[in-house]
Amino acid sequence: MLRAPFLAMYRTHSCNDLRKEHVGQSVTLCGWVNTNRDHHGVIFIDLRDREGVTQIVFRPEENGDVAEASHKLRGEDVVQISGRVDSRLPGTENAKLATGDIEVIASELKVLNKADVPPFPLDDPKVNEDLRLEHRYLDLRTGPMQRNLKLRHRVAKTTRDYLDERGFLEIETPVLSNPTPEGARDFLVPSRLNPGTFYALPQAPQQYKQLLQVAGLEKYFQIARCFRDEDLRADRQPEFTQIDIEASFIAEQDIQDLIEGLLVRIFRESRGVEIPVPFPRMTFEDAMNRYGSDKPDTRFGIELVDVGNVFRESQFKVFRAVLDGGGVLKALNAKGAAAALSKEQLKKWEEWVKTEFGAKGLAYIKWSAGSAAEGSPFAGWESPIVKFFSDTEKAALAERMGFAEGDVLFFGADKWESACEVLGRVRLRCADLLGFIPADALNFLWVTDFPLLAFSPEESKHVAVHHPFTRPKTEDLPLLEAGEYRKVRAVAYDVVLNGMELGGGSIRIHERDLQAKIFTVLGVGPEEQQHKFGHLLKAFSFGAPPHGGIALGLDRLVMLIAGAESIREVIAFPKNNRGVDLMTNSPVEIDFKQLREVYIQSTAKKG
Ligand code: ASP
Repeated sequence: MLRAPFLAMYRTHSCNDLRKEHVGQSVTLCGWVNTNRDHHGVIFIDLRDREGVTQIVFRPEENGDVAEASHKLRGEDVVQISGRVDSRLPGTENAKLATGDIEVIASELKVLNKADVPPFPLDDPKVNEDLRLEHRYLDLRTGPMQRNLKLRHRVAKTTRDYLDERGFLEIETPVLSNPTPEGARDFLVPSRLNPGTFYALPQAPQQYKQLLQVAGLEKYFQIARCFRDEDLRADRQPEFTQIDIEASFIAEQDIQDLIEGLLVRIFRESRGVEIPVPFPRMTFEDAMNRYGSDKPDTRFGIELVDVGNVFRESQFKVFRAVLDGGGVLKALNAKGAAAALSKEQLKKWEEWVKTEFGAKGLAYIKWSAGSAAEGSPFAGWESPIVKFFSDTEKAALAERMGFAEGDVLFFGADKWESACEVLGRVRLRCADLLGFIPADALNFLWVTDFPLLAFSPEESKHVAVHHPFTRPKTEDLPLLEAGEYRKVRAVAYDVVLNGMELGGGSIRIHERDLQAKIFTVLGVGPEEQQHKFGHLLKAFSFGAPPHGGIALGLDRLVMLIAGAESIREVIAFPKNNRGVDLMTNSPVEIDFKQLREVYIQSTAKKG
């Protein structure tokens, strides 16, 4: 880590600079009183600045007045201290501190600002988060938060350097813009100069970055702020930051290589680890089939297995109905889970999949260790459904799943995607419960060949899985023509780390007619196309190059590197999970006059 080279007039060194070789030098330091101790009339303070901590000693016998004044110092007072660097007495060195061999004997003390008692102890890791957010400027003084923000800077800086070296230009795009169809609600801003009209804050700079390709800029990036009005979770914020990239004359593989190189650099420079490349690749279909997720956590093995064949002729009506109705039957063997999963717990899990994922149930077989009876190999199977299975089915199931004493087998019987998804969630929960996940593993992976379109029953129409600008695979264009929309695959890819989506992108449509066709399939008629996307369609008719791109979530990436629990830990001034900035109290009610200026009449009262 570089030392702060810019100290200007107030100080000669930072609080992390002084070592044995400085002994005897006169120095001036500035910072906050971190701790103060009175040792038989001798005051010791730990002086803290952004770089570190230095011990200051006020000796009454050397500088009486200054020592006297030091008695009044309190935690978080801001001071300027001059003095002489001295070695600490043998045996009093602090090996944990970079400056632990020395101390500064104070000869001058200037209190630059007194501090009130902080509302919480700054070194207490268990402080309530609301209190921290309300006084974020204090929270950010703490070691972990300073480390996180430095790390964030390092990741952003590495990104800029890496992309600059490869000819990418950092170009800003408007924050006041048009609605973008990225799948969330827009934040709207009324325009005073154009009564009755609104800007939308960008959910992503998607159309602008594509238009920059039409404009011939060829390689664009931006560390871009994006705004999405969604319900918040631990890893979501209404405004967040993306490393946004777009380039012309580029194929899927080029973008994946570029991002692998970027992540190698970021992990090397910020965490000192070498990540292996190329990352494994898995199609969406494979990921769903094997892991029940489009962002599979591949740090542990247990995989989903199709057991439809075993039960194709079964007397068990529930399985048969699903199979005969075109659904699938998948199973998952939670190896060694029997001891950890009581019947009550399994009931709770069933409730969980029902309420959370709308599953009809969670069929299971538990085989407790030591329960197999002589001559009856399946006697130990505990399950509400095995009584409907024939012995042949049981034997085939056990063999296919490697089912043994001590295991719990789960079933997912439903339409393909739902069956996979539910078992995928069960898989993650088992891994958590059984401690299958190795602590330090970094499992990167590309998931490719996503479907282009999905059917939304709520909207009763097709919606874009990535976004409407994503290119269908050339070999699937006949399926698009034939109206087999669900079968069309996209040239879209996500980069996944330990079961989390780090980012995603696609090769784009650059032909006007194909783009118009996709809008039509998405239920956007010609008039609406003109109104909402006329600029893009028009631009495509003036020589748009083939292009594609990707965006990585910067907050999430930094969170993972920092080992933080939530992205709020790596954002200087985040909103809480109700979308409120507790420090400034934003969002606030706006007075009538200001609203009238932008032609808004509020019908809501703050709740
Ligand atoms: N605009 C997309 C997103 O925000 C990323 C991309 O396609 O480049 O998810």
